[in-house]
Amino acid sequence: MKLSDNIRYLKGIGEKRAELFARLGIHTIGDLLAYFPRGYEDRSSVMAISDISAGEVVCVKGTVAGGVRRFRSARRMQVVQTAVSDGSGMLKLVWFNAPYVEKTLSQGGEFIFCGKVVQSGFAYEMINPVIDREGGGKTGKIIPIYSTVNALPQRNIREAVENAWRVVDEPLVNIIPSETEQRYNLIDVRSAVQNIHFPRDFEIFSRARRRLVFEEFLILQTGILLSAVPKEEGRATAVNDVRAVRTFAAGLKFSLTGAQKRVINEICGDLKKTVPMNRLVQGDVGSGKTVVAAAAMFEVASCGYQAALMAPTEILAEQHFRALKEMFEPYGVKVAFMSGGQKAKEKRENLELIRSGEAKIAVGTHALLTENVDFENLVLAVTDEQHRFGVRQRAALSDKGANIHTLVMTATPIPRTLSLVLYGDLDVSVIDELPPGRKRVATYTANEKMRRRVELMVEKELESGGQAYIVCPLVEESDVLDAKSAVEYAEHLKKGILGKFNIDIIHGRMKAAEKDEVMHRFIRGETQILVSTTVIEVGVDVPNASIMIVESAERFGLSQLHQLRGRVGRGERRSYCILFCENTGGVAGERMKIMCETDDGFEISEKDLQIRGPGEMFGTRQHGLPNMKIANFYTDMDVLKEAQTAAREILDADPDLKEHPALREKVEEKFAETVLN
Ligand code: ADP
Ligand code: MG
Repeated sequence: MKLSDNIRYLKGIGEKRAELFARLGIHTIGDLLAYFPRGYEDRSSVMAISDISAGEVVCVKGTVAGGVRRFRSARRMQVVQTAVSDGSGMLKLVWFNAPYVEKTLSQGGEFIFCGKVVQSGFAYEMINPVIDREGGGKTGKIIPIYSTVNALPQRNIREAVENAWRVVDEPLVNIIPSETEQRYNLIDVRSAVQNIHFPRDFEIFSRARRRLVFEEFLILQTGILLSAVPKEEGRATAVNDVRAVRTFAAGLKFSLTGAQKRVINEICGDLKKTVPMNRLVQGDVGSGKTVVAAAAMFEVASCGYQAALMAPTEILAEQHFRALKEMFEPYGVKVAFMSGGQKAKEKRENLELIRSGEAKIAVGTHALLTENVDFENLVLAVTDEQHRFGVRQRAALSDKGANIHTLVMTATPIPRTLSLVLYGDLDVSVIDELPPGRKRVATYTANEKMRRRVELMVEKELESGGQAYIVCPLVEESDVLDAKSAVEYAEHLKKGILGKFNIDIIHGRMKAAEKDEVMHRFIRGETQILVSTTVIEVGVDVPNASIMIVESAERFGLSQLHQLRGRVGRGERRSYCILFCENTGGVAGERMKIMCETDDGFEISEKDLQIRGPGEMFGTRQHGLPNMKIANFYTDMDVLKEAQTAAREILDADPDLKEHPALREKVEEKFAETVLN
């Protein structure tokens, strides 16, 4: 069979099951082989019962001792209980809702049991262990564990991958040139894929993984290098009007912080050169990045050129639009606005403002990137909260002018070493100071028992004039359910003591215009409680909001929580953040503790990367890192550096990848994806 064949041709996969696989993004046999495990269970070696300890997954070998009991538990579950003895000791075994194991066990002889060991009183026991015999195939090896959806058991994925591996009769696509494979000591693609799914041992596994991580990073790096703007003189328009910047700063309602001034100086230093600026501004939530960008944009406008600011959501774009209009209009600098939700007439008018150069400033969503947006003389492109945009999109905005400076702003700090590899030759400015008078957001965890008290606290806060955000739990992979949960939550709220306040909802399923409506009501203070899914997370600025409740806080990543919390504590009022969290053990508890103890975004981000398991880290957009299938930016940094060097070597010899069509195809695929992010 071919890699492009549908998985329906595999044994055991019918229409129903194929649909489940489709939910995991698996359609073809090639997709299946490229669906790597998220973890492994080591069933390769048997341990003596006397050597085991609680919390580990282990295999023991022995005979059943003391008979097999089957009964119904108090919760009406079928329970089978027995013990295994191996000469070194005895271990209790328990199965829930698996009555059929009784028959297997009663056959007697030697068994291998594999499972997690837990403490039970003074003894250990194993819950729901896998039962195998010597040579039975279920043990004696390392077992892959795949991410899956509810109705699709691990075993099905495992078998499907095994089958796929057996029936494929064409070579796997190799995107790494053989010189590169040799130079970086990478095993071949076939062994790599085989051993990522069915590792013989951990040594070959780690070589397999290294190859696949390298491959993924190579694609990323090649793409980044291909879209980089060369830092050469004469490539950008020099802009220099120090007086304008001073006037602008003097006209603000507040005085700039030292950090803001320093960063504005750094930007202005770049702008007066003809070498294109490529600068990242990192500043924690609320540090005042917008005004820094505004100063630079003002300078550009006063020199007669255009500047554009792109934001990842309609709400944010509109907020920037309002803020910039307020700052610029006193000076007669016109601001245009572009968004997907605009009416045709409005759109036409704004397009004309931008095309004619009447508007020196354009603010918008990615609608700014559409073909019919023509600038008269764009020289500065700013993207806010850059992690929402792919590399391509940033490049696309830069393509709107011939000689562009680019500025990227983000609240999610990534280690400098990482930003260098990810964004190429990039300068970084840090706003490491908050505007004066900002008070720390007092953060607490709470559980269900404390709900009443929390509600009273919210009531008090609202009665004294504050406003509240309530963030609903995310519903996995479903916008529809997300919306439903927010709606139901609000309904429930209306029946309780908070029902006397005006409550609104905002969620990802709403149209842009609806969201704006809701947001505006909240900004104007017409609503006191905003129930939302995480659509509010980025950049929203309502200084009067002083309390935030996060439901099921353990489901959010640390950086995400930090972003969310940044929505309060933006004004005069003392602010609170309450994290509802039932489970305060393990990683979840660690996260909550960090949230309560620190409000330093850099520290939080660093910790976040550390305590996330590799599986969890993929798919998160919060770090501004692209989605990766297997590579981990934190722990695979050394491979990332090698892949970067390799990408340079390949492109130096073959700038258009003519000799490497497979690599080129992958790069295009990956970067096409990013655009849609
Ligand atoms: P972020 O860095 O999160 O994008 P914003 O640019 O939205 O932050 O700024 C947050 C709030 O702080 C805004 O209301 C802004 O007007 C205000 N602000 C910015 N700089 C200062 C300053 N130097 N002094 C007082 N308030 C400021
Ligand atoms: Mg912002």
